[in-house]
Amino acid sequence: MKIELLTHTPEPELVVAAAARLCYSNSSIEALLEKSRDEREAFLEKITSLGHLSVFEHVSFSFGVEGISRACSHQLVRHRLASYSQQSQRYVSHSKRFSAVTPDSIAGSPQFAERYQQMLDEIHGFYAEMLEAGIPAEDARFILPNAATTKIVVTMNGRELLHFFSLRCCRRAQWEIQALAKQMLQLVKPLAPILFAKAGPGCVSGACPEGALTCGAIKEVRAEFNASSLGA
Ligand SMILES: Cc1cc2nc3c(=O)[nH]c(=O)nc-3n(C[C@H](O)[C@H](O)[C@H](O)COP(=O)(O)OP(=O)(O)OC[C@H]3O[C@@H](n4cnc5c(N)ncnc54)[C@H](O)[C@@H]3O)c2cc1C
Repeated sequence: MKIELLTHTPEPELVVAAAARLCYSNSSIEALLEKSRDEREAFLEKITSLGHLSVFEHVSFSFGVEGISRACSHQLVRHRLASYSQQSQRYVSHSKRFSAVTPDSIAGSPQFAERYQQMLDEIHGFYAEMLEAGIPAEDARFILPNAATTKIVVTMNGRELLHFFSLRCCRRAQWEIQALAKQMLQLVKPLAPILFAKAGPGCVSGACPEGALTCGAIKEVRAEFNASSLGA
């Protein structure tokens, strides 16, 4: 998969701090952006620890994603407070060859790896044949598998990103969306290190929210997300 941060609110921490300062002081609008960096950092740490997260909604981040499976994008778009633009399977046909994701468990299986590829080839052949016979792409696509890759642009505000990371960076999340979420976090954390200081699965900032389904590796997970490399 390939993920790029296409654009984002300039100086996200400045904007969030300004919005928060408006709530807690009688600062004029003109003075909102004027505080020194040190003061801003202390202020941001305070509002983050108070859980006053609505101020994170004033900043947004747009990502371009390609090479993820439709299985992954379907999970992604369940996050309703984000905006999406996804490559259409109605208007963009894969007449040459659709590309597909092969999970490691299948790629490494002597029993299934070859058959998986054969099935993809067969599906592709049938799909191409239907297109050639004049079946519209919007109908031929019904045969395409979850494995078929897609491209999507996704925009999330800071608060939704934190929520997304809490669910999808968790080891309980499916591996492909987990990899996507971690890469997105790696892209935004250097831009707003205070806003995203505690970003990651729920256990990074508190108890594991998964209860009996916990992965049981809290120490390891915390170490991974507190490290600047995020386990990359
Ligand atoms: C490990 C895992 C397993 C999953 N398994 C399944 C599964 O088997 N089947 C399945 O269908 N889904 C499954 N999901 C998807 C899950 O149910 C959610 O749809 C998805 O994670 C989006 O979460 P969300 O609704 O909190 O996020 P968002 O849609 O991003 O919403 C963010 C927050 O906004 C609030 N919100 C948004 N919309 C509303 C609303 N209409 N009303 C009230 N509050 C709202 C909620 O507080 C919500 O948490 C799974 C997710 C995970 C992480």
